[in-house]
Amino acid sequence: MRIGAIEAGGTKFVCGIGDENGNILDWLSFPTGHPAQTLPQVIEYFQDKQAEAIGVGSFGPIDINPESPTYGCVTTTPKPGWANYDLLGTLRRAFPVPFGWDTDVNAAAYGEAKWGAAQGSSSCLYYTVGTGVGVGVYSEGKIIHGLVHPEGGHVLTRRHPEDDFAGVCPYHGDCLEGMAAGPAIEARWGKKGHELPPDHAAWEMEAFYIAQSITSAILLLSPHKIILGGGVMQQLQLLPLIRQAVLRNLNGYVSSSAILDHVDEYIVSPGLGQQAGLCGALALGLAAWNNGAAI
Ligand code: ADP
Ligand code: ZN
Repeated sequence: MRIGAIEAGGTKFVCGIGDENGNILDWLSFPTGHPAQTLPQVIEYFQDKQAEAIGVGSFGPIDINPESPTYGCVTTTPKPGWANYDLLGTLRRAFPVPFGWDTDVNAAAYGEAKWGAAQGSSSCLYYTVGTGVGVGVYSEGKIIHGLVHPEGGHVLTRRHPEDDFAGVCPYHGDCLEGMAAGPAIEARWGKKGHELPPDHAAWEMEAFYIAQSITSAILLLSPHKIILGGGVMQQLQLLPLIRQAVLRNLNGYVSSSAILDHVDEYIVSPGLGQQAGLCGALALGLAAWNNGAAI
């Protein structure tokens, strides 16, 4: 079986073709430009790929409510040309196959539950900490949508005692994304994350903010696994700092051995590595094929 996958990111698009076991057989990545430039590249990629269904994990916010007249559109984004753009509709017109459609992080959470670090679990959260912060929610064996879709990157945070940085979120200033995404690190410290040494104070502060949101998410959703991806998480010293901070925050309150005794296996890197997003889109495409999602 040949299933198409599109990881539609604000920085880059990744298109691929895979099989029903989560194997990516071929892929191509290119920078995200104006949709008039990017969509023809996507369509050209799939032209000779014989995809039987296609899954799309998209940057957002996006409309994922099938009852809505703007279903399939990117909604509010400052990216030129993308606000209110009918991304799914454009793809559907080009390829008459079933389509899966969800946020990039929901797709990644789903892919990790199917083939990655949360395989066999009925719930997981997938965080990306990169240009923005996003949180995908998979719970009780389902991707969670709710009213719109979860927007866990914008939860409000308690300020680090030594941090007077205002935050960079254009909506909230010092929400999680405003304090902890890659551009926040760069604005606070005057250097990009990868230029800061591993023992820099930035990383303890970064862990402080991410761990706060993870703590709240554990208390709210009780997930079986928490998976942390995105460019900033390439700083390998972060993961242990985050685990310690989560344990300190919880202070023994959640009496689960998975957290208290095995936090190294509870808060983890993506099992699918750099392909978490693309494999997630593949999983969405496969699900669409299986239930014959509306063409
Ligand atoms: P995107 O979120 O745009 O899909 P990434 O997940 O690669 O892409 O995130 C890009 C952000 O992550 C940038 O702000 C960049 O500075 C930061 N970043 C990328 N690599 C590293 C690294 N090795 N260490 C720290 N920060 C990084
Ligand atoms: Zn925000």
